[in-house]
Amino acid sequence: MSRMFVPGPVDVADEVLAAQAKPMMPHRSKDFEAIFRRCDERLRQVFFTERPVYISTSSGSGLQEAGIRNFVNETVLSCVNGAFAKRWYDVAVANNKQADKLEVAWGEVITPDMLADALKAKHYEAVTIVHNETSTGAVNPVQELAKVAHEVSPDTLILVDAVSSLSGAKIEFDAWGLDWLLTSSQKCFALPPGLAFGAASERAMKKAETVKFRGWYFDLLLLEKHRAKDSTPMTPAMSLVWALDTQLDRILAEGIEARFARHSAMAKRTQDWASAQGMDPLAPAGYRSQTVSTIKNSRGMDIPGLNAFLKEHGLKIANGYGDLKDKTYRIAHMGEIQMTDVEKLLGLMDEFLKKM
Ligand SMILES: *Cc1c(COP(=O)(O)O)cnc(C)c1O
Repeated sequence: MSRMFVPGPVDVADEVLAAQAKPMMPHRSKDFEAIFRRCDERLRQVFFTERPVYISTSSGSGLQEAGIRNFVNETVLSCVNGAFAKRWYDVAVANNKQADKLEVAWGEVITPDMLADALKAKHYEAVTIVHNETSTGAVNPVQELAKVAHEVSPDTLILVDAVSSLSGAKIEFDAWGLDWLLTSSQKCFALPPGLAFGAASERAMKKAETVKFRGWYFDLLLLEKHRAKDSTPMTPAMSLVWALDTQLDRILAEGIEARFARHSAMAKRTQDWASAQGMDPLAPAGYRSQTVSTIKNSRGMDIPGLNAFLKEHGLKIANGYGDLKDKTYRIAHMGEIQMTDVEKLLGLMDEFLKKM
């Protein structure tokens, strides 16, 4: 079986791919609304929330934009420690918001002290944080960051991108006091690309009422009006919703905690292997992703050459992102990837290293 150890789009189970092949039905029909409702209900379990979860026909970046357009009038602080965190800052600037950066080097994380200092120095309506920075494999301590933000600046909303971690790592929307939490379909959920999911707190939705020019497509107040009737203002990507319906059954059948444990075990195995080979993960210990390992290429492997070798065995890993290309490589262990797949990959990488 072929396997892609890349951080999205990831392999999708045959059963989930097949679920898309159903004939169309009117999206404004009791049958479709029932499917839409049960997807929302089960997504709440994955988000650890009692709030509704919006199902958007867009990729995750669309919901980064939704967060900015709905919850920010003017000021936002973007925590930037990698490519996708930088994108959220760019989205804020592109929407004419006064965005400031709280920036650290790629591979590092934002600490609660840094955030506290920034929020003491200036008031912000919202903070954007990427939970799992896919470019570096570093995990920001979102729970601690939210806690300190609530203490220092209680009305600042906490907007979190968990595109490459949600459903592979535990993120508790309600318990952590988050205000916007978004993810995409094509990473840990192991669905085809094209859907994104987001939850908003009650106070965030109240705030949205005060924000002018929220746009139309991503206006959460409009989406909520229709969501309350198990529907959407526009036509949803129905085939993808059928795939989601099937995949949520599979995710909950595995057990959400068992799913997190599987990801965590694969990350530990991969990162221990890398360190034993003299190649440490880029992120500091304690802040390493359990869904994607970004590893320093300290032994100077030819990454395209490695991938050519892996391809003969139906496998593929990801090169480093942007400036980190060839200096790091990434092994994603998310979605459908199992420990046996990881063992096969690491065995082949051992072989490749021996031949160098
Ligand atoms: C992939 C990714 C994105 C972009 O998501 P799209 O679904 O491609 O729009 C944003 N943030 C993170 C952390 C990602 O990994």
